[in-house]
Amino acid sequence: MADTKKTIQLEIITPDASVFKGEVDFVLVRALDGDLGIMPSHAPLLASLQIWPLMYEKDHDRNGIFVVGGFLEVKNNTVTVITPNAELSGSIDRKRAEEAKRRAEKRLNAKTQDIDVERAQLALHRAIGRIVTVTQYGKKIK
Ligand code: ATP
Repeated sequence: MADTKKTIQLEIITPDASVFKGEVDFVLVRALDGDLGIMPSHAPLLASLQIWPLMYEKDHDRNGIFVVGGFLEVKNNTVTVITPNAELSGSIDRKRAEEAKRRAEKRLNAKTQDIDVERAQLALHRAIGRIVTVTQYGKKIK
């Protein structure tokens, strides 16, 4: 008979730190080919992530962590996210992200040839991801 766990372990790791580690009820991420919801006892899985907030639910409360791409693995009732960078919603400076968004948009709209379009697009994605994280999940995580 299938083992039905009530919670799943979530770990978010960057080269610098363990950003989050805890038991949660549900995880929602944006993988390269779409949104992925992970409940306890989920089957093993590997996925590449977009630059977008990860949402986890715990005790009916939704929390957001901005993840800057990377990979997700589900194994043994544990979700492990390995990402170049991750930020708890409460640690994001909205004003800074809005300024970064304006800068990136200005670069992309400039008519000059000498801009690194890919770099500006990535900066824009990071800024939008941070703004969405703060807007949807605010400063819930202490
Ligand atoms: P900026 O142009 O504002 O530096 P960025 O997207 O280029 O934005 P990153 O290179 O992704 O910044 O991040 C550099 C460091 O600054 C990382 O440690 C990241 O967590 C932090 N950081 C960037 N933007 C914010 C923000 N809006 N709020 C909090 N920390 C931020």
